[in-house]
Amino acid sequence: MPKKEHKRYHVKTACPQCGCSELTVLSDEEIEERFGDVENIHMECGECALKYFTPVEEACPEWDKECKMRKEKMKK
Ligand SMILES: [Zn+2]
Repeated sequence: MPKKEHKRYHVKTACPQCGCSELTVLSDEEIEERFGDVENIHMECGECALKYFTPVEEACPEWDKECKMRKEKMKK
């Protein structure tokens, strides 16, 4: 039996204060658990500890698309 492949999502965020960017790689299960279908990702900068929000659309367009597709499916 082949193991179910997990899709990997790249979440890219940049701190608005110091500009340092962070790249987080999450599996579909992890991203679901952490972000679900929120529109904004809550992030904390590792450099200056600033807490900020990043729209999912910008941070991870793939996940954003996935969520929209799911919602479309649920409507039907
Ligand atoms: Zn920062």
